[in-house]
Amino acid sequence: MELAEIWQIALGELEVVISPPMFKTWFLGTNLEGYGNGIAVIRVASPWAKEQLEQRNRGEIIGVLRKHLPDITTIECMIKTPETSLPPRVTQEQRATGIPFSSQNNRLKPEYVFDNFVVGTSNRFAFAAAKTVAENPGKIHNPLFIYGGVGLGKTHLICAIGNEIMRQSPSVNISYVSCEDFTNEFVQSLQNRTVDNFKQKYRNVDVFLVDDIQFLARKEGTQEEFFHTFNALHQQNRQIVMTADRLPKAIPDLEDRLSSRFGWGMVADIHQPNLETREAILLEKCGERGVTLTQEIIDFLAQNFTSNIRDLEGALNRIIGYCELNHLAMNMENVKKALEAFVDQNQLQIAPDKVIDSVCRFFGTKRDDILGKKRSKELVYPRQIAMYLLRHEANLTYPQIGRALGGKDHTTIIHGCNVITREISRSEQLRSEINHIKELITSPGFT
Ligand code: ADP
Ligand code: MG
Repeated sequence: MELAEIWQIALGELEVVISPPMFKTWFLGTNLEGYGNGIAVIRVASPWAKEQLEQRNRGEIIGVLRKHLPDITTIECMIKTPETSLPPRVTQEQRATGIPFSSQNNRLKPEYVFDNFVVGTSNRFAFAAAKTVAENPGKIHNPLFIYGGVGLGKTHLICAIGNEIMRQSPSVNISYVSCEDFTNEFVQSLQNRTVDNFKQKYRNVDVFLVDDIQFLARKEGTQEEFFHTFNALHQQNRQIVMTADRLPKAIPDLEDRLSSRFGWGMVADIHQPNLETREAILLEKCGERGVTLTQEIIDFLAQNFTSNIRDLEGALNRIIGYCELNHLAMNMENVKKALEAFVDQNQLQIAPDKVIDSVCRFFGTKRDDILGKKRSKELVYPRQIAMYLLRHEANLTYPQIGRALGGKDHTTIIHGCNVITREISRSEQLRSEINHIKELITSPGFT
């Protein structure tokens, strides 16, 4: 039987066991693209569809597919949207001449080097470890595992390692890849029956730099492949560097044999930078962009953007863009305007209905049920998330939220928002759900 036919039958069976709105949202338009090594590769349209299928409906999907693919062990979803750029396929000529099928070095961001990385107490240790690795690849810290929160400089550091090694030894074969690309490429190679090329390519590099390895969470097939790549490289003393947003042990469903290997060499963390470091980074970024800001403005920005350097830099870029576009001087008044204009714009775009619809779509609940009074668990949770998002994304007041949700008391709303705020700090699953709903809210194309 053809894969397409198997999938049609599977969809028919899934439609019966999955609620109709969920089925419509997540399963329509999907395809069974490939099958090999017990892994069924399903093509989906978006990252949240991928997460939905892989994490929540995985059991059901494997269950129905098993009737036709008896040795199935897992599924992996690949996202195929027009924007996704997967690496080029191997051409006949390349195969014939044995040229590796895509040079990974060009993914290294050339602007991320050690020279423009500002060192402070929050990142001193990681910086030193990175430098050591760049100067002695494969010899001292292997693997090097760098972890820390979003926008704190992990990608900058891992690229700096690659750039420095390339500068010192241009012939060294460096592969820099995000774990997401690694996964997609692997899945694609299963589909194209080019797994051997894939293995060849990654098991023969001298320096293997993998960004955001937490992406391996729950991807059994890719973990298996990564395990073999890791071993092959480590045995030959090739340098491996990985970054992640958390410690190996904290990556959900990461096999023990991997998380223990990730800790074999050096584990270095990056914290949030203090005020001094934030100011120093701002000065560095101003220098790179050729702009001068007064000390007052530097203080203002460094005090207002505290948790994440990407946001701090984003604010700086916004200010420069705004002042240049409107031919304004970069003084305090215009800086504030630039930041307000940005915030306002963001607020205007989000209609309360869009928030409610996105929540309904995500959970497969009916709008009337969210607005209604039934207090079953399946409704209370999405309803509270809607409250939270109406507060934080649509910026409504508590009484406004009460009205938007079919006339609820504002104390109910305050309670709901508090519940979600509290849970967010504890539950990774909730954080990820909220992020997906936010993506739905801001995605243009659905009604
Ligand atoms: P992460 O990968 O941890 O999410 P990035 O490495 O992408 O973060 O950093 C976000 C932005 O902040 C980048 O533009 C990077 O250059 C900048 N940045 C982070 N830390 C520093 C630093 N210590 N010095 C200079 N720039 C930094
Ligand atoms: Mg990064």
